[in-house]
Amino acid sequence: MSRRSIGLDDALHRYLLDVSLREPDVMRRLREETAAREDANMQIAPEQGQFMALLVRLGGAERTLEIGTYTGYSALAVAAALPPHGRVTACEISAEFAEIARRWWVEAGVAEKIDVRLGPAVESLDRMLEEGLTGRFDFAFIDADKKAYSEYWERCLRLVRRGGLIVVDNVLWDGQVADPAHTEDATEAIRAFNARVRDDDRVDLSLVPVGDGLTLARVR
Ligand code: SAM
Ligand code: CA
Repeated sequence: MSRRSIGLDDALHRYLLDVSLREPDVMRRLREETAAREDANMQIAPEQGQFMALLVRLGGAERTLEIGTYTGYSALAVAAALPPHGRVTACEISAEFAEIARRWWVEAGVAEKIDVRLGPAVESLDRMLEEGLTGRFDFAFIDADKKAYSEYWERCLRLVRRGGLIVVDNVLWDGQVADPAHTEDATEAIRAFNARVRDDDRVDLSLVPVGDGLTLARVR
């Protein structure tokens, strides 16, 4: 027993997956295809996808936002958890990634639920604000370039309604955030972001050590 969060070694992680992961076949195949790519570590963990799907269902979310889509795993997990009329608006800068993602969404039968906004996410989010989408989203997932997290955060706080949830990925950054030897731009950006969110009284907060660390923030 422990009064602090338990660490997961390989055996315990395997056990966790064995007794809890319910990954649909199409998502497993998407993960396996992506695993062959050099940039595969950008993909979220399957247990994290399942956790996010549960959050979406718990909150009864219908309109969701994603910032950073890559080959489409997280958007697929969220879209599959939405009701039939639910929608994901996915911001992605790479047309190549968006095309790969679309192929999997079609195969999974969720393509009609996902609208991709291609281009730099800050511009896409600003356009959504101009379009009058303030407060219109129930859930947002931030997972694009780490240096811009604070910019995404401010925009999500406007786009997500009160009581909605903002979920932020990679906030433990492979442990590097706690190691002073790491001073890379992305590490420093995540450190600054985490400290800022801790002190942000516009949200209720929990940092959950799922995957690479996930901050859950409920908009007050
Ligand atoms: N959520 C994805 C998944 O489940 O597999 C992983 C996202 S990956 C960590 C980050 C993504 O953000 C990449 O696909 C990258 O092309 C995209 N990205 C990077 N900078 C961006 C920007 N300025 N605007 C929009 N997307 C960006
Ligand atoms: Ca990530």
